[in-house]
Amino acid sequence: MKAYIKTFGCQMNEHDTERMYDILVNLGYAHSPNETEADLIILNSCSVRDKSEHKVFSHIGSLKELKEENPNLLIGVGGCVAEQEGSQILQRMKHVDFVFGTHNIDKLEELVSNAQRGYSSTSITGFRNDFKFLSNYNYRTPKISEFITITSGCNKYCTFCIVPYVRGKEISRDFQEILNVCRELVSKGTREIHLIGQNVNSYTYQENRKKYVFADLLRAIADIDGVDRIRFTTSHPRDLTDALIDCFRTEEKLASHLHLPVQCGSNRVLKKMIRNYTKETYVEKVARLREARSDIALTSDIIVGFPTETEEEFEETLDLIREIKYYDLFSFIYSKRKGTRAAAIEETYTQAQKFNRLYRLHGIQNEITTTLHKEYEGKRFDVLVEGFSKKDDKKYEGRTSTNKVVHFFSDASLKGKTVPVRITKAQKHFLEGEVICQ
Ligand code: SF4
Repeated sequence: MKAYIKTFGCQMNEHDTERMYDILVNLGYAHSPNETEADLIILNSCSVRDKSEHKVFSHIGSLKELKEENPNLLIGVGGCVAEQEGSQILQRMKHVDFVFGTHNIDKLEELVSNAQRGYSSTSITGFRNDFKFLSNYNYRTPKISEFITITSGCNKYCTFCIVPYVRGKEISRDFQEILNVCRELVSKGTREIHLIGQNVNSYTYQENRKKYVFADLLRAIADIDGVDRIRFTTSHPRDLTDALIDCFRTEEKLASHLHLPVQCGSNRVLKKMIRNYTKETYVEKVARLREARSDIALTSDIIVGFPTETEEEFEETLDLIREIKYYDLFSFIYSKRKGTRAAAIEETYTQAQKFNRLYRLHGIQNEITTTLHKEYEGKRFDVLVEGFSKKDDKKYEGRTSTNKVVHFFSDASLKGKTVPVRITKAQKHFLEGEVICQ
């Protein structure tokens, strides 16, 4: 039997998909390369934007034909849309066998077994107090860089965001359990630990009388032999504490990259978003961060066209981008999400006006990214070699500490090692380089 999982959305979903494969492998499923050869298809859905939700429903619809051709095919829907819509998916899409929400991935075994026996369609959603972080990395060999989920959910309730409603309240993973997963991965060849969570830097774990915060976790992971680099996403500016900034000063293993979503540059709009920082406090934290780690590369998220955002306020966002000089931006047009507080605010601009703003923002950011990339040319960087290049199978690829992908000629002996590479050419989305003989 073969299983295929289609993943929509963020790194958290990608990582959840891997945990689903772990469960399915235990049930005897092999990994299918595509949907047509699969006996079981799962869509791991995303509802962060209206468009992503539509994509999921249109994909579920497209599977109807496959089910008609092969009535034994099982179809499941997991992730954020599943959590949000639950059994309504089963009502709307009769060819779906089961639905499971974000807190119920560990129920997958039961759901698949029941579906195999021909039981009627089931939906399991809702947040659980016994939520489990899944740890297995059995279905494939661990990579040089591996994700570890350390928090789930979010308590911030930014007014535009659906996450707290589909991922539940914030839960931090057991401190020792995270360290054990790191040790296990390192023993299997992993060299870079990438901690993930919706709001990763608000990590707090209480064990007996000891309280661990995110900076404690970073320092403890840095102490593990065999961990060469640590990354983390996504951070909230409010939780960028002095202790965390200090980690960038003292922990060499901490990568020189921080994704720090600012969302916009207007204090009035930030207040409407309930982000709990101002443009000034954000800029001041960035300055302290750069003082602690001079080469740090910053990336960010921007929402264009939040309801009532004026042209002047949008200009403030552009000014902030010019001032901070992000290496990259993930920018989106505001998408109204049912159930969020911002959904009640009347929208004052047309889609065309919002696209115009997005287009202008992209233009400015592209220039900044190109200039910053050019500055890499001719310089030497330490690159952690991850494996064959996805663009050119004659080359290898790795990342600089600043999270830039570099392609270069190498050999298998360097995989998993950190090597000096001179950058020969900066392309738009990656760098080309040559390994410097040591
Ligand atoms: S902090 Fe992030 S995940 Fe949490 S509500 Fe705000 S945008 Fe959503």
